[in-house]
Amino acid sequence: MAFIQKHQYSLRNHNTFGIDVRAEQFISYDTVEELVSILQELRAQGKRILQIGGGSNLLFTKDFPGVILHSNIQFLEYVSRGSTEILVRVGSGVVWDDFCAEMARKNYYGSENLSYIPGEVGASAVQNIGAYGVEVGSIIKEVETVEIATGTPRVFQASECEYGYRDSIFKNRLRGQYIVTAVVYRLSTIPQVHLEYGQLKDLRAKEETPTAQTIRDAVIAIRRTKLPEPCELGSAGSFFKNPVVPLEKYRQLCAEYKDVPHYVVSEDSIKIPAAWLIEQCGWKGKTHGGAAVYEKQPLILVNQHHATPQDIVELASLIQQSVQDKFQIQILPEVNYI
Ligand SMILES: Cc1cc2nc3c(=O)[nH]c(=O)nc-3n(C[C@H](O)[C@H](O)[C@H](O)COP(=O)(O)OP(=O)(O)OC[C@H]3O[C@@H](n4cnc5c(N)ncnc54)[C@H](O)[C@@H]3O)c2cc1C
Repeated sequence: MAFIQKHQYSLRNHNTFGIDVRAEQFISYDTVEELVSILQELRAQGKRILQIGGGSNLLFTKDFPGVILHSNIQFLEYVSRGSTEILVRVGSGVVWDDFCAEMARKNYYGSENLSYIPGEVGASAVQNIGAYGVEVGSIIKEVETVEIATGTPRVFQASECEYGYRDSIFKNRLRGQYIVTAVVYRLSTIPQVHLEYGQLKDLRAKEETPTAQTIRDAVIAIRRTKLPEPCELGSAGSFFKNPVVPLEKYRQLCAEYKDVPHYVVSEDSIKIPAAWLIEQCGWKGKTHGGAAVYEKQPLILVNQHHATPQDIVELASLIQQSVQDKFQIQILPEVNYI
């Protein structure tokens, strides 16, 4: 039976910024059948609908005049267990890191670099979450959905999901049109490790072929030193995407600044860490009302002291403007403004 909370439901515990806005209605469902019948009812009422997961990439800017849906579809089942490849189907309401923990425990490779990212399985396939050189799109086989407008189930193959940097068809062309109900991931029993990024390189020096569990433990240890725990300090992780600039622009920056950090995206485009641009503009640790730029990582905006949505929106736009003025580079939010 779906849990239904009507009338001005506080979303404070449903977004990691900890913003206390209200939804006209909040509905949590346990099965696809429940979801289909809820959608049918809501369509008849003409209500505005927003599906959320753990709210770890959302910035609610005001009360939500409609219905917030939340999946409580909880299962993890093995579709097949071959000698080298594992297919595992997971309900959209499963906490993402619970899934990673289970895969590492079994020493199945694929999700370990993405350990400890907040949020739920459904959103992982929407957001194409990424960390330490791995994006979830690379281990997704298919995404099970329900179309909001018709209640019809549809399975998307990974090749149809248009995965890109923090991007997918669900975030872009089909935004707000499908609800993810389950995801099938493809993992490997053979070590396929990605230790090229940041402090994970140290692990390679220590162990030739670390287990999935060892990599997971290292990732969690690194993340704990760098990122705020949402239960202690509200944030939505990286607030901005890293901009990709033409090679010529990167060369101009190098002429002016020493050691410009960068990743080569293609022959003629370079990704510049937004954190570096923001830090060069002097924003690290700065506050605006109750919002602040996290002192350990300037890409993260935090709710330092009872921030209002306006404090965070204004701080973000001041940062964007100063990066634009200083570098003539546009940085765009990764966080979804609602
Ligand atoms: C401290 C911190 C660290 C983070 N680190 C990383 C990181 O390293 N890498 C990274 O990629 N992200 C990171 N994030 C961002 C965030 O964890 C991810 O974007 C995550 O996937 C969001 O999951 P969620 O369940 O909280 O989704 P929500 O924030 O609730 O929703 C995100 C989007 O997905 C949509 N959505 C959610 N569930 C569904 C569904 N079932 N069907 C259809 N649409 C849905 C929502 O409408 C919304 O548009 C971090 C966030 C925090 C707070």
